[in-house]
Amino acid sequence: MIFMGDPMKRISLLFVLLIVASYFSFAQAPADLIITHADVYTVDPTHPHAEGFAIRDGRIVFVGTTKEIERYRGPKTHLIDAGGKLVLPGIQDSHVHFVSGSHALNKVDLQGAKSLVEIQRRIREFAVKNPNAAWVQGRGWMYASFPGDMPTREQLDEVVRDRPALMSCADGHTVWVNSKALELAKIDRSTPSPKNGIIVHDAKGEPTGALQEEASGLVWKVVPEPNAEDTYNDLLKGLGEASRQGVVRVHSLGGDFEWLDMLDRIRGEGKLTVRFSVAMFVSPPGIDAKGWAALNQARARYHDDWIEQGGVKTMLDGVIDSLTGAMIDPYTGQGENRGSLFWTPEDHRRTVAALDAKNIQVATHAIGDLAIRTALDSYEYAAKQNGAHDMRHKVEHIEDIAAPDIPRFAKLGAIASFQPLHANPEPNWMGAWIDHVGPEREQRAFAWNAVRKSGAHLAFGSDWPVVTINPWEGMQVAVTRQDFDGNPPGGWLPQHRMSLPDTIYTYTMGGAYAVHRENLEGSIQPGKLADFIMVSQNVFEIDPHEIGKTKVLLTVVGGRIVYDAR
Ligand SMILES: [Zn+2]
Repeated sequence: MIFMGDPMKRISLLFVLLIVASYFSFAQAPADLIITHADVYTVDPTHPHAEGFAIRDGRIVFVGTTKEIERYRGPKTHLIDAGGKLVLPGIQDSHVHFVSGSHALNKVDLQGAKSLVEIQRRIREFAVKNPNAAWVQGRGWMYASFPGDMPTREQLDEVVRDRPALMSCADGHTVWVNSKALELAKIDRSTPSPKNGIIVHDAKGEPTGALQEEASGLVWKVVPEPNAEDTYNDLLKGLGEASRQGVVRVHSLGGDFEWLDMLDRIRGEGKLTVRFSVAMFVSPPGIDAKGWAALNQARARYHDDWIEQGGVKTMLDGVIDSLTGAMIDPYTGQGENRGSLFWTPEDHRRTVAALDAKNIQVATHAIGDLAIRTALDSYEYAAKQNGAHDMRHKVEHIEDIAAPDIPRFAKLGAIASFQPLHANPEPNWMGAWIDHVGPEREQRAFAWNAVRKSGAHLAFGSDWPVVTINPWEGMQVAVTRQDFDGNPPGGWLPQHRMSLPDTIYTYTMGGAYAVHRENLEGSIQPGKLADFIMVSQNVFEIDPHEIGKTKVLLTVVGGRIVYDAR
């Protein structure tokens, strides 16, 4: 009846209707992909929960209820009905060594082997299965599995005699080799230990087969390097593993810079499933002209959403387990030994300031309290020299911080980058660490919550292949501060436990912020890249001791399904 009146009115009303209709069809042009009936935890504090979202051109365009999302469904829209499952932003792993992690998928996995018998069994099995491997390589053993907390070449000779064998410690700071490998590396009783390294000797002065820090280089240089094709194939496996665990971006901190073009080749083939921020490793005394040229070239070339040159990594000390972490006061029960810095503080701060001046982010490995203080001093110095300018320099590991340094992260705008699984309080893993720092310094072990409460930005990562790239085990340790048997009761230093929402935030938005990408990644919000995961269980509703068992069912990066186990 409304159209029975004045013809002019009729036309103008139709016109208005047309405009309104075209407005709605524009606003809700069909999406490429919609997720409905999901339990979405967005990590967006203004709208933490939703039932779904719509994706167009690799980005999230709308987040809301299933009913609202249905409006984005067109004839070509791909629909994922989550069936009530938990959906989260994809995991950002803020500390990996991706190429070595990928190679490690081809090595004896010694992680979790708690006795020498078990370690030898796994190595023997691998050697038998891989008769053509010129070297038998493995990684993941722990000091406490050996009598005297250090392995010997005889123990490795017992299982591999025909070929050289090399097993890296879980912490990456000691290698254990057999007699054949020592022979090939020409290491005997007269070989001097290199700078920043120790060839361990027995009472008779013979090398025991344990090589610490830089001494491992003596053997590594005779191990055949995997060639480009091996690396390509292993990287594809590594990408598969990362996607299977729900990881959508990694901050790569050593070993991958040389492979940027390989990542680019994989991207060109449409097989890149993880976003990369790749740092260049710089050793003391600092970056030389060749280093600057390589860095500048990589920065000019790689700065997009998938592959970006991600600053510089430096390493100030070793680890506490093998007494190579640099401490302010001596280790407990170890005489005057307090470890030592790999850099002079002057070289380090000069290098950091030069990079900072060019807006290049620095990530510094600092485990002992002296190394942590030195890293923060360098960042403070750079800010004084160049003016503070939101660089978000990172300190990696921060295993035992001195109390006065806790508030400095927030003050300097530095990122505290922790790897929760390194704090797994399993006695085999943490025993030596705890003994070496003693009870007073133990109170500030992996003090992520104290640093967070001081107002600092945190990021979480794995340090793969030092430990698994699986983030769910790390999440469990962050929340419980217990090992996977639930020990110690109440948690190790429970004041450092993080809540689950803070933990998830740190694994998502925290990681995105740490690489200056918080406006594009880290949460499920309109305008952001469509990087998300669907998981097997609602981690908010289960016993925290079950979080580590979470399986990823679906990983989507840039709106593309890269892993699907539904
Ligand atoms: Zn690392």
